[in-house]
Amino acid sequence: MLGVCPLLKFSNVNIFLKNSCRYLNLLEYQSKNLLRRSNVAIQEFCMVDKNGSQALDKFYAGEYVIKAQILAGGRGKGYFDSGFKGGVHITQKREEVPKIIKEMLGHRLITQQTPKEGIEVNKVMIAESVNIKRETYICILMDRHRNGPVIIASPAGGVDIEAVAENTPHLIKNLPIDIFEGVTDEMADELADFLEFKGQLKTKAIHEIKKLWKLFVTIDATQLEINPLVETDDGKVISVDAKLNFDDNANFRQKEIFAMDDLSESDPREVEAAKYNLNYIGMAGNIGCLVNGAGLAMATMDIIKLNGGDPANFLDVGGGVKEDQVRAAFNIITSDTNVKAVLVNVFGGIVNCATIANGIVGALKNMTLKIPLIVRLEGTNAVEARKIISNSGLDIITAEDLDDAAKKAVHSI
Ligand code: GDP
Ligand code: MG
Repeated sequence: MLGVCPLLKFSNVNIFLKNSCRYLNLLEYQSKNLLRRSNVAIQEFCMVDKNGSQALDKFYAGEYVIKAQILAGGRGKGYFDSGFKGGVHITQKREEVPKIIKEMLGHRLITQQTPKEGIEVNKVMIAESVNIKRETYICILMDRHRNGPVIIASPAGGVDIEAVAENTPHLIKNLPIDIFEGVTDEMADELADFLEFKGQLKTKAIHEIKKLWKLFVTIDATQLEINPLVETDDGKVISVDAKLNFDDNANFRQKEIFAMDDLSESDPREVEAAKYNLNYIGMAGNIGCLVNGAGLAMATMDIIKLNGGDPANFLDVGGGVKEDQVRAAFNIITSDTNVKAVLVNVFGGIVNCATIANGIVGALKNMTLKIPLIVRLEGTNAVEARKIISNSGLDIITAEDLDDAAKKAVHSI
C-alpha cells in the first residue's frame, strides 16, 4: 500500500501520481471504517496498539486474522526485522492472538513495498477471519491519461496480482467511467461477470461494486483498491483488504478524512514544514538550502552539485513567505545534524528580502549557529535586507550571486 497501485505501472498515471502533489494514504483499518460507513461488506474487527486494548477482551471469533497496519502492501508475504514471518496471520486459537500481536507491535515489517529497513508497526488489526473460496481484485482510480476514473478488475486477485498483470494481462479489465454518469447497471453487471461471480453472488458483487463507486466519489479519493474482494464459502462477497489514497486537492472538502493522517511514518521534519506551509524534502547531503520558488530551489541544488557539494534538502519557502515561516524553515534545516553549512538563496520578486533577513536574524537570536551561513539576497528590498544582516552583528557570509553563493557554501565546509 505505497500510494501507487501495483497495476499502475501499466499506464502513465504513475508519473502523474508520483510527482504532482502530496498524498494522504490511510491505513487499512481507517479505510475500512470508511467502507463500513458506506455499508460495504467487511469483516468485524478491533484494533490494538502499544497501549493495549480492551476491545480485544470483548472480541470473539471462530477464527482470527491478525494484520499489521502499515502504509504498504504485500504484508502477507512480508517478514519482520526479528525474523518473524508474515504481516497477516490466521489462527483459530484465541490464546495465540496476543502472542502474534506481540511479535508485530514495535517491530519493523519489511515487504516488497516498504523501504528495505521496513516500517515499524504501531497498530494491529484483529478481524474475524472469513473462509475464502476465491479472491478477486478491484480498484477504482483517477487516471490522468484518460481524464477521469477507471476501474481495474481481475478475477485473479490476491497477493500475486502484480504477477497476474505481468504474465496474464487478459485477466485484467480496464473500464473507464464517466464521472458524471458513474458506474451504470450495465457496467456493474459486466464487472461482476468478469470477476466470475455467479447467480446470487453476482447480485451481491454488483451491489458491492456500486457501493465502492459511491464511496470513491463521495470522499474524493484518487484511488480505492480492494485486494482481495473475496467470495466466501458461505456465499458472501467481502472486501478483505482496502487501501484508500487521496491528494491534496481533496483536503478542503474532506477535513475529517485528512485529520486521520497518521504522521508516525512520515519524516518529522516534513511534518513540521507542512505545518508552516513550507515545501520541504529532506535529502542526504550536508548543505542546507533555504530558497524561494521551486525553480530557484532546483537551480540552487544543481549549482551546489556543480561546485562539488551536496544539498541536504529541498526547501521552498514560497512567494508570500512570512517571518515566522523563515524562522521555522531555519529551525528545521539546522535540526539536521548532517547539515554543515546553510545557504540562503532568495530572489525577491513577490517576496520582500527584508522579511527573509528579519526571519534569519530572528531565528539566529534564539539559537547558536555553529555552522557557516551564506546568504544571497537579491531583488525587492535587497539593500534594506543587506543592512538588516550586516547590522545584526551575526557572523554571516554574504554572496553576490548564485554561483558565488554556492562556491562559498561548498568551500565553507
Ligand atoms: P496484504 O498482503 O498486505 O495485501 O494483506 P491482505 O489483507 O490482502 O492479506 C493477504 C492475504 O491473506 C489475502 O490475499 C488472503 O489470501 C489472506 N487473508 C487475509 N484475510 C483473510 C481472512 O480473513 N481469511 C483467510 N482465509 N485469508 C485471509
Ligand atoms: Mg491485499
